[in-house]
Amino acid sequence: MLKIKRNDKCPCGSGKKYKKCCLANPDKNSEIIHARSIAHTYEELYQIIAKPMDVYRLKVELIRMGFQEIDTEVSRTFEIEGKQTLYDLHINIQHAFDWDNDHMFSFYLSDKLFDIDNAFSANPLGEHFISSFGKSSKSASDAQLRDLGISTGLSFWYLFDYGDELVHRVTVEEVREMTSKDIDLPKMLHQTGNAPSQYGNMEE
Ligand SMILES: [Zn+2]
Repeated sequence: MLKIKRNDKCPCGSGKKYKKCCLANPDKNSEIIHARSIAHTYEELYQIIAKPMDVYRLKVELIRMGFQEIDTEVSRTFEIEGKQTLYDLHINIQHAFDWDNDHMFSFYLSDKLFDIDNAFSANPLGEHFISSFGKSSKSASDAQLRDLGISTGLSFWYLFDYGDELVHRVTVEEVREMTSKDIDLPKMLHQTGNAPSQYGNMEE
């Protein structure tokens, strides 16, 4: 990681000392720590910090529950900030579909469901777990959307509950720069269809 000393000029460009500027503000400092974790040079660091946050418009569609294909559209479309993690996205999906957040989940950043090399997982509390299949996924709580190479048109998978297998496809509809009007993110933009009962299959 690139070093910034307390008495250095703050990398945000304010002209103040780091200790009197972003170091004293947890939100701003977390942005500086994030930039330090991915920048290779100071020039790159300043560019990352100066860049406006991206906002992602994501359409999440329920594809199947266990063996039952969902044949009418059930989807929710969100806007979410790039600094949010896949765990944050999981929580948004849980609320939007009215699921109970009572099982583990994985995102597969891939066109293949169960692609362990591109898997990001956690339990309902956001804690990462080690796969029993030998290979392990990465932590969904550590994965910020902006660092995942996600671009418009891409789609990937969200699997909730490994037993009942609620399978969702997430499509990136737009990636745009955040503006001063974006004060209420994350937010739901559209919903289509009623989500079935999470335990519907068991009642039959
Ligand atoms: Zn600063």
